Amino acid sequence: MICPVCSCGETLRRFAVTREAPDKYASFGPASTASNYKPAEYAECAGCGSMYWLEQGDYERIYDGLAYKAETGDADSFIRQRFQTIISLPPAKSDNAQRVARVREYASTRLDFSHPRQVLDIGAGMGVFLHQFLDSRWQGTAIEPDPSACEHMRSVLPTARIIQRYIDQVDLPEHFDLITMNRTLEHVPNPIAFLRHAAKLLKPTGIAYVELPDVRAFYLNGPHDQDFAYGHYVVYTPSALVHIGREADLDLHRLQRVIEPSGKHTIYGFFLKSPPRPEQGGVKA
Ligand SMILES: [Zn+2]
Repeated sequence: MICPVCSCGETLRRFAVTREAPDKYASFGPASTASNYKPAEYAECAGCGSMYWLEQGDYERIYDGLAYKAETGDADSFIRQRFQTIISLPPAKSDNAQRVARVREYASTRLDFSHPRQVLDIGAGMGVFLHQFLDSRWQGTAIEPDPSACEHMRSVLPTARIIQRYIDQVDLPEHFDLITMNRTLEHVPNPIAFLRHAAKLLKPTGIAYVELPDVRAFYLNGPHDQDFAYGHYVVYTPSALVHIGREADLDLHRLQRVIEPSGKHTIYGFFLKSPPRPEQGGVKA
């Protein structure tokens, strides 16, 4: 096996996990379905320290929209209830409220709001981030492959554009001031290619915000931490986040490890576009 982050072929420990009950924080996709009961085997990369899922599953099949229905029977009411629960949490208990606050704070240091700015949320799920984040300063676009989630977003985000696609199927004419990927990259087997697609959609002065599960969950909680589960391809280290950014021509500007109100261990990073390299800018010696 090859690490999907750093391409190192050497592994340290290996372990397998099987969830005994649905993820209590499950919001969408496989975490909320019977697939959550499937065993998932992980390896720790000797190169970057990330822990990656050894099965290269077909992720497009995982998110084919049937995921919601497998266990709940009614995807739409499940999503509606889940969304309502999350947006009703008091700010101190809400991972999302804290995310919204830090992204707003960072954006205010980089952008002026003399005109509305464009935000793209990739892997938007039920739309909880945009629902709380969007105000008169922002115009929102959401990309999300799950049809039930998109249908839900169309009802709760009436001013946003909702695109039901995978990122590599999207060809957008415009560029964005802010692109957010909130716990999205762990759901894809090819994070570097994914991030490159995203970076291409960023304005030269734009900001990319990436939020990921942290391997610290393993060291503090063991392999049965909720972040090790069928469908989570990689649980990251800080250096792995820096690496995937660099591979996508994104420079890390701020990185933080946090324990969220829900108990999740999270790494987040704010990235800026790297200046064009000489060979890309046409300046040759
Ligand atoms: Zn690695």
